[in-house]
Amino acid sequence: MWQHTVKKEISFAGVGLHSGKPVKMRIKPAAVHTGIRFKRVDLGQDTIVRASMRRVSDTTLATTLSKNNVFVGTTEHLLAALCGLGIDNVMVELDSDELPIMDGSAGPFVQVLKKNRKEQKARRLMMKITKEMTFKAGATEIQVKPFAGFKITSKVQFDHPVIKSQSYTVEIDQDSFVKEIASARTFGFLEQVEYLRANGKALGGSLENAVVIDQDGVVNAEGLRFADEFARHKILDLVGDLALLGCPLLGHITACRGGHTQHVAFMRMLAANQDCWELVKHSEDGKESVMDKMRMASRAAGKMVLPFLLPPVPRPSLS
Ligand SMILES: [Zn+2]
Repeated sequence: MWQHTVKKEISFAGVGLHSGKPVKMRIKPAAVHTGIRFKRVDLGQDTIVRASMRRVSDTTLATTLSKNNVFVGTTEHLLAALCGLGIDNVMVELDSDELPIMDGSAGPFVQVLKKNRKEQKARRLMMKITKEMTFKAGATEIQVKPFAGFKITSKVQFDHPVIKSQSYTVEIDQDSFVKEIASARTFGFLEQVEYLRANGKALGGSLENAVVIDQDGVVNAEGLRFADEFARHKILDLVGDLALLGCPLLGHITACRGGHTQHVAFMRMLAANQDCWELVKHSEDGKESVMDKMRMASRAAGKMVLPFLLPPVPRPSLS
């Protein structure tokens, strides 16, 4: 119900998964209604890049945001940690163009962030799904329907002898996110890794920050953290991308074979279908008030805090 920030500045250091470059990142407290924002401190300029679906500039392998040619790459795992822990307002400063990959999951972020949540005196706005909507593109299907909470079902399918299909469902709150989702790692197939490296991607990738699968199964000596770690990581990625809505979602999403590109397209479809949701606030006694979309859109226009209320940014289609 209440918005949250962090109690104090929190630092992380690591390497970018794709760039392979070292990066230092600082997460700082921020005022109510300001959302999650990124600032590159290595460029000597003040461009602020919002965690907003309007700022997505690339969804190949990871979700990259940009504004005025200032890029912030691989945002999804930190955004998932913030969203999963219900942290609404922070300023994230970094000195490179990609966030640190840490161990390939959101685990290292949540371990520190969960002890540093700070309640703020402003209520959260939420996007409440009121009518079923289904997004389809190729083999991907993402459906959302009304639910009195935030629930995700993820279904993955691989054309692989060892890893075939997996499904996982979770109702996300702080506890379930930390226990069931946050530590699920990113994964990739060995044959793709070589191709990616040849194309200047995955340069920071290693068995320390990704589950690697070859023809016989999992290459990592330690094996998997969960038997269905792949389906759980897909939930992690979806939670992170949904943070780009700028407010929590109330509903049940079922995603089959989704990735970053489809997540963003799904959010754009949601934004365009205003009859499928309403904007609500909850009071202390659990009473729900429905906000006027037109009024909220004019307020959001100045701050760009609720990007789904604003007209879409014209841009070339995402790869
Ligand atoms: Zn991921």
